[in-house]
Amino acid sequence: MSLVLADIVHRYGRTLAVDRVSLEAERGEIVCLFGPSGCGKTTLLRLAAGLERLQAGRVALDGALLAGNGLDTPAERRPIGFVFQDYVLFPHLTAIENVAFALNVLPRKARRARAEEELARVGLDGLGGRYPHELSGGQQQRVALARAFARGPRAVFLDEPFSSIDAVLRRRLRDEIRRMLKERGAATLLVTHDPEEALALGDRIAVMKAGRIVEAASPRALFEAA
Ligand code: ADP
Ligand code: ADP
Repeated sequence: MSLVLADIVHRYGRTLAVDRVSLEAERGEIVCLFGPSGCGKTTLLRLAAGLERLQAGRVALDGALLAGNGLDTPAERRPIGFVFQDYVLFPHLTAIENVAFALNVLPRKARRARAEEELARVGLDGLGGRYPHELSGGQQQRVALARAFARGPRAVFLDEPFSSIDAVLRRRLRDEIRRMLKERGAATLLVTHDPEEALALGDRIAVMKAGRIVEAASPRALFEAA
């Protein structure tokens, strides 16, 4: 397995947000984390991304330990791309600059060219000079996706990526994003509370409830069981 989350437990004070969760994803696989608000989905993703300090358990990618046993690799040093609700675009930077920001490991000149390439790959050719407020919600979401993909991550995490997009656009964007994710071939975890979205996007669906994964199966298997 490419991405391995093992025995993860997380508390906020006395709240047990994640309760002994283990979850794996292969390269090119989209696993949807599905469950009601407050069940621990975002916390689990933030822990895996390194945005929250791991209290117990392990996170590994392609056999390398990223967190656990006293190790906690900082988010920027993990080969992981993410699109989180609270990790929005910088309003004072253009689309290109937003993507280039993720490429600070490259020399200055190379950053721009790579950022342009990434924007083109998400269908934003020619819009790189625009500021976020000059882009539609769907376009902003694509910029965020381009930024997440910019460093060629081996895992990609998305937290409710369609939440700010209206229902009509959502359906189309969903298919496009699924195609883009599959094309990149990273191990993908996508958080949603929308069953339709989970069924349409996931190769596998992990159902969360009160901090635990209570079931994990293909959409077809879940659908037939329902
Ligand atoms: P979900 O993403 O499924 O909505 P969360 O991971 O956001 O769930 O939250 C899981 C639980 O942890 C909830 O009970 C929530 O209130 C609590 N929680 C989340 N973030 C914090 C925080 N920063 N401080 C305290 N409690 C939190
Ligand atoms: P609405 O108000 O129509 O629900 P928002 O404008 O709050 O939508 O957000 C639309 C999307 O753009 C969200 O994904 C949000 O994360 C992102 N976003 C919001 N404000 C900014 C900003 N200033 N710069 C970049 N992205 C933003």
